[in-house]
Amino acid sequence: MDADPVRCLLRAANFAAIKHKDQRRKDPDKTPYINHPIGVAYILMDEGDVTDIDVLQAAILHDTVEDTDTTLDEIQDVFGEKVRSIVAEVTDDKSLPKAERKRLQVEHAASRSHQAKLVKLADKLYNLRDLCRTTPEGWDEQRVAEYFQWAARVVRGLRGTNRPLEERLERLFKERQVPDC
Ligand code: NDP
Ligand code: ZN
Repeated sequence: MDADPVRCLLRAANFAAIKHKDQRRKDPDKTPYINHPIGVAYILMDEGDVTDIDVLQAAILHDTVEDTDTTLDEIQDVFGEKVRSIVAEVTDDKSLPKAERKRLQVEHAASRSHQAKLVKLADKLYNLRDLCRTTPEGWDEQRVAEYFQWAARVVRGLRGTNRPLEERLERLFKERQVPDC
């Protein structure tokens, strides 16, 4: 695959922007969806000091297979085998019911690769910060609190991966008084 990191990152950003072009986040402002994967990659670089280009590309692409018509084979063709495997690890099996998918995220967290754990940590940090910023339409406090509790269980399985990101997550859980954190 391409050895130029700038080219790799811009290719991923362009690919994800096209794939997510009609999607919006769940916040009341309906923020363009692409803000999220770009923000996840930025958290990894800026707060987690992550420079691994495969991880940063996978972060930008992390929701394309789960939430758009993108296939893992397509990811492999454009971005190579390593990026494909990280994206595959952070993609839920869409054939399963939502509750089961959430249970499996908790169960599988500790056995994921280091690279996939990094993407998961930054993904959770971004989503929890989003929930602190505004409440999605139709969500009540109870649902937000349950989301924090579930995220804390996933993050527990990701421990020992990246100190700065884990510290920021732990601080958020303490501030929100998530039990056992
Ligand atoms: P969802 O899984 O429905 O939504 C959370 C996900 O939405 C995040 O993981 C994130 O995923 C994405 N997202 C998009 N915009 C935002 C945003 N602004 N802030 C944070 N996340 C955002 O949430 P739940 O876990 O609460 O629900 C799971 C299931 O349970 C659903 O099927 C839901 O319908 C059902 N349910 C739950 C209730 C409850 O009280 N817990 C009540 C009613 C229904 P990504 O990183 O992929 O973008
Ligand atoms: Zn995500």
